Amino acid sequence: MSECPVCGAEVAISDDPVEGELLDCEECGAELEILALGPITLGEAPEMEEDWGE
Ligand SMILES: [Zn+2]
Repeated sequence: MSECPVCGAEVAISDDPVEGELLDCEECGAELEILALGPITLGEAPEMEEDWGE
């Protein structure tokens, strides 16, 4: 478990987290990104349109 940086709710982290993994906060619906693994740091994922370009 880690804490949602937006609303402070606990967010479930998978057993095998990967840096850059995206999660959704079930509490506020924010899209979160795992920024670091030791210790697990969550940040708000930048809002991206589905435009992956190159
Ligand atoms: Zn939240």
